[in-house]
Amino acid sequence: MPHSALPAIALTNLCKTYKPSKKSPAITALDNIDLVIPKGSIFGLLGPNGAGKSTLINILAGLVVKTSGKAEICGYDIDSQTRMARASIGVVPQEIAMDVYFTPWQALENQAGFYGVPKSERRSDEILDALGLLDKRDAYVRQLSGGMKRRLLIAKALVHNPPVLILDEPTAGVDIELRRQLWKYVEELHKTGTTIILTTHYLEEAESLCDRIAIIHNGEITANENKDTLLKRLDQKTLILTPATRLRKIPSNIKSLGGVLKQDGNIAISFRTGETSIMKLLEQIKSTGITIADLRTEEPDLEDVFMALTYDRDKT
Ligand code: ADP
Ligand code: MG
Repeated sequence: MPHSALPAIALTNLCKTYKPSKKSPAITALDNIDLVIPKGSIFGLLGPNGAGKSTLINILAGLVVKTSGKAEICGYDIDSQTRMARASIGVVPQEIAMDVYFTPWQALENQAGFYGVPKSERRSDEILDALGLLDKRDAYVRQLSGGMKRRLLIAKALVHNPPVLILDEPTAGVDIELRRQLWKYVEELHKTGTTIILTTHYLEEAESLCDRIAIIHNGEITANENKDTLLKRLDQKTLILTPATRLRKIPSNIKSLGGVLKQDGNIAISFRTGETSIMKLLEQIKSTGITIADLRTEEPDLEDVFMALTYDRDKT
């Protein structure tokens, strides 16, 4: 297959165990990851803190050494075709750590030099302009605000024109205005053909930006599908009812709706909004004859979602 037809990222049985230290035991951060990220997507890698997102990204970036398994970037193996693999991605790290003694322009030129971009092909001013940093071209990096530093990190990841851009938690600690700017720019890059991969622990962020979402939990991929398919699986709500008088036992027809009696005396009924409605449930409950003093609905939080998806997978 020509390299242009290969997926942006292909991981096979990828494992990473951090060695034990005096302070902590060995940690398996990635446990047999198989993952294919197609070219042309805006792909979200979603997972709670500690799930293994940065470990995965840092292996691709060459900052963390994998324990075993295979990783390919645009068809290039990170072990045997390291140079081509590196040239195929730009990575915006989660932590802002940069050399503060350079100006933004110098930082980009250094990075371009590192990637062997010939002087005639460098686009430092163009990239600074695109990220709204042209007026800071010759300022010292230490004088830039946090938001500007983050934009400079993106600029640095772009100097060698990589077909794949990876952003690790790009909006953690970033204000709303900057977030909007970032996404506008990322969407423009995507339109011109760059594959975008971002990690986040915010469901809404992945939801609004990505066309495909994989979920990582405890170092394992627990879901990987089109956003719309995934969201349909997450349409669960819980109806919480407080009976007027405390029940000793759950009536059988409420039980058959999936209801459970909780310790606090409330009845909880989980349902899928695509399959049934609250009105239908309430009608059925009314027919049992219990008087309801209060009711409310609960939506699952991200942790519930991860649990549900992990559970679904274990069943199949
Ligand atoms: P995420 O980015 O999803 O929050 P990480 O990849 O940073 O997750 O971390 C995954 C697990 O690996 C966590 O348990 C974390 O504590 C551990 N870990 C990350 N980096 C190191 C390291 N350099 N040494 C030891 N353990 C690490
Ligand atoms: Mg991380």
